[in-house]
Amino acid sequence: ATPLSITVATGKGASNGILIRSAAALETAHKLTTVVLDKTGTITLGKPVLTDVLPVDGVTKTQLLTAVASAEHDSEHPLAAAIVDGARDSGVPVAPPDSFASITGKGVRASVDGHEVLVGNLRLLVEANVDATMLEPDLALLSHDGKTPMLAAVDGVAVGVVAVADALKEDSVEAIAGLKARGIDVVMMTGDNRNTAGAIARQVGISRVVAEVMPEHKAAEVRRLQGEGRVVGMVGDGINDAPALAQADVGSAIGTGTDVAIESSDITLISGNLTALVTAIDLSHATMRNIR
Ligand code: ADP
Ligand code: MG
Repeated sequence: ATPLSITVATGKGASNGILIRSAAALETAHKLTTVVLDKTGTITLGKPVLTDVLPVDGVTKTQLLTAVASAEHDSEHPLAAAIVDGARDSGVPVAPPDSFASITGKGVRASVDGHEVLVGNLRLLVEANVDATMLEPDLALLSHDGKTPMLAAVDGVAVGVVAVADALKEDSVEAIAGLKARGIDVVMMTGDNRNTAGAIARQVGISRVVAEVMPEHKAAEVRRLQGEGRVVGMVGDGINDAPALAQADVGSAIGTGTDVAIESSDITLISGNLTALVTAIDLSHATMRNIR
């Protein structure tokens, strides 16, 4: 494209809440065959809310919530914030843990009142040799509803499940339909569990889901799709999306997301709404048509 047509398109983008940082992105966006969407914070609001507290027999809801909220007190993960806020809202005391470690893509391990507390996904508990079999029915029910369940163990014993729900952004369904109407394959990629991801995908009309992806494997997943001859767009908001955004042919960051994601991408969707991506693709089409 000519410098002038790029300038015009960049200006039009800006007035539609789309910051285009590279001319190459504008020249490539109309060729995208596949768009990979992060789930949390991209398709959903990324503001999960605590919905369920399900202790095992012999443990009270307050005991379970006190343990998990204290363990999560020092975590910066949005799931942790949902648990801590939910506990405070229901009047449960939340004290900081004595020590704390975040286990990326899995959960947290903390020392609370001299007890070791684990909160996270099934993988975290299984790797710590905790028998979580009796929690599995609750896990299945919660994730089938599109909620994110987190399991808790104290001193190596499973004590219950808590769950959070994260609402869809109001335009996600429309934006995904818009991408599909343009002949683009839409893929959801998330670290969240397979059943939760599948439930959210069904709600927004996505049939291809890559779930339980470790943060360091997101970029490899984009590379694999490129290896199939696809031209791949990626949209994400988190630190863990940054390498995948950089790997994609066109990386788009959610404007309300982390700085690292924005710096690793070609396009910023300022309002965070996915319909802006559809607009950017249309802008690319129009720009490239004008100069041919
Ligand atoms: P996403 O790709 O959805 O942003 P992450 O890679 O950050 O997800 O996390 C993947 C999974 O690891 C979460 O769905 C959750 O099960 C677990 N997890 C991560 N951080 C925490 C935490 N602080 N507390 C409990 N579970 C966590
Ligand atoms: Mg995210």
